[in-house]
Amino acid sequence: MVLVAAGAIAGSLAAAAAYGIAARGSQLLSKSVYRGPGARKSIALTFDDGPSESTPILLDYLEKHGVAATFFECGMNARRLPSVAREVVAAGHQLGNHTWSHPHLLFKSPASISREFADTQHLLIAETGAEPVVLRPPYGLRSIGLRGVERKLDLLEVQWTVIGNDWKLPAAGISDRVLRRASPGGIVCLHDGRGVRVRPDVSSMLAAIREIVPALRDEGYTFETVSELLRPDAPLEAFGGRGRPRPYQE
Ligand SMILES: [Zn+2]
Repeated sequence: MVLVAAGAIAGSLAAAAAYGIAARGSQLLSKSVYRGPGARKSIALTFDDGPSESTPILLDYLEKHGVAATFFECGMNARRLPSVAREVVAAGHQLGNHTWSHPHLLFKSPASISREFADTQHLLIAETGAEPVVLRPPYGLRSIGLRGVERKLDLLEVQWTVIGNDWKLPAAGISDRVLRRASPGGIVCLHDGRGVRVRPDVSSMLAAIREIVPALRDEGYTFETVSELLRPDAPLEAFGGRGRPRPYQE
């Protein structure tokens, strides 16, 4: 009986904690941004879980269409494919920190969360010369310990306005979803990897992006990195995260 009651209490506390931490807009534990001010018709494409073996295909496409984007990379992937991480920066995109091994952070200790981001930060700087100024927690989960990491590493937490569900939808489903929900100042979350999987299949995203970019352009959108989107009055000279913008926050 006592055990049952304790279990029920623990369960509801966990649910409350999970809600408070993960809920969109919750500012209990850390500050985060979900969109830019939207003063002009621009949008930020973001790609998580890279670099992967397929990232160069995406880079080719973005370069041909003059699109600057933001890549939230995992340290483990960048260690496996450092030349691809360098290509991302050389192409003028912004780098973000997406942890070392892509764990669920919800019940990780603050020390372990700190290591996940700090090790990634050091590796990305060493391999690419670019210092990330933004992070995104895996699965968008906001957790205990994240705020301390953000302060210590001076990283802004960036969530998204639209997520493509590109790990499970076919290309047409991804592009429909993104185009229906696009808005000025929006941040679109897609994936050029799958956690830290080797040779992930991101073919649906690669097909969808060929629909998304021309359609948004036809609607009058321009594409910006996250830092540019957040600070339209002060575009970064280098998109690689070398600048230290003071970001817009809602
Ligand atoms: Zn991820």
